[in-house]
Amino acid sequence: MPARPAPALEPSVRPASQQSVATRPNPTSPTAPSTAYEAVRARMVQKLAGQGITDARVLSAMGTVERHRFVDSALMNQAYEDTSLPIGLGQTISKPSVVARMIELLLAAPAMAGRSGARLGRVLEVGTGCGYQAAVLGRVADEVYSIERLRGLNERARANLRHFRLANVHLLLGDGMQGYAKGAPYAGIIAAAGGDVLPQTWIDQLAVGGRIVAPIRSAQGGQALVVIDRSNAGVQRSVLEAVNFVPLKSGIA
Ligand code: SAH
Repeated sequence: MPARPAPALEPSVRPASQQSVATRPNPTSPTAPSTAYEAVRARMVQKLAGQGITDARVLSAMGTVERHRFVDSALMNQAYEDTSLPIGLGQTISKPSVVARMIELLLAAPAMAGRSGARLGRVLEVGTGCGYQAAVLGRVADEVYSIERLRGLNERARANLRHFRLANVHLLLGDGMQGYAKGAPYAGIIAAAGGDVLPQTWIDQLAVGGRIVAPIRSAQGGQALVVIDRSNAGVQRSVLEAVNFVPLKSGIA
């Protein structure tokens, strides 16, 4: 999709001397006033609602977290378009619509039935990347453990998240295929990278009443979103729509 510049972020044609600080957003500066992006972020949230996201917790979190702070300055004017963007080391920040969809599914875990305004308990995210989804999760869950296998991205996410001061988001360097036993059992597990099969460790670390939302290779060779619900009776698996995530890999690099 061609990049469509967001009108609110275009450089003004007025000379700088005639502009107040508030009307002079500099999208290439990480310290650009947050207000410069509020209108485009609000529009993104409206589009998410139009695409069928109904959970108020998700819409509020997506409207709060400043996605432009997670991408390179050269990409900031695309930060609120519904597109994935490169974040370095061959990885990408997921599309807003996919982040919203997956978190909405996570919040619909069996144990959350009838608790439409409640926060999720502890959540494990596999694949921190730039930390954007971890920040959104931090707004809807009590505790977030987000694990990344690439040192460079773990460090980058740490730097990105510093601004937000989210005391409940914990970044870890490690192989997420092993889960993170110290935080288990989890009310929700969400993966931002897709493997051939779902690691058994994730199911073992899932609380009864909890839910896993993850991309897994589908029978047709592509990827599909899979939802796993754990109950006292066992595990129930549903396969949903096709998705396109970076591969789940083992080990730390
Ligand atoms: N949630 C991220 C999306 C990152 S892309 C965001 O909001 O930006 C997926 C990430 O998963 C990549 O950074 C990749 O390095 C990571 N990844 C792949 N396999 C992994 C594994 N086994 N453990 C932890 N992270 C993994």
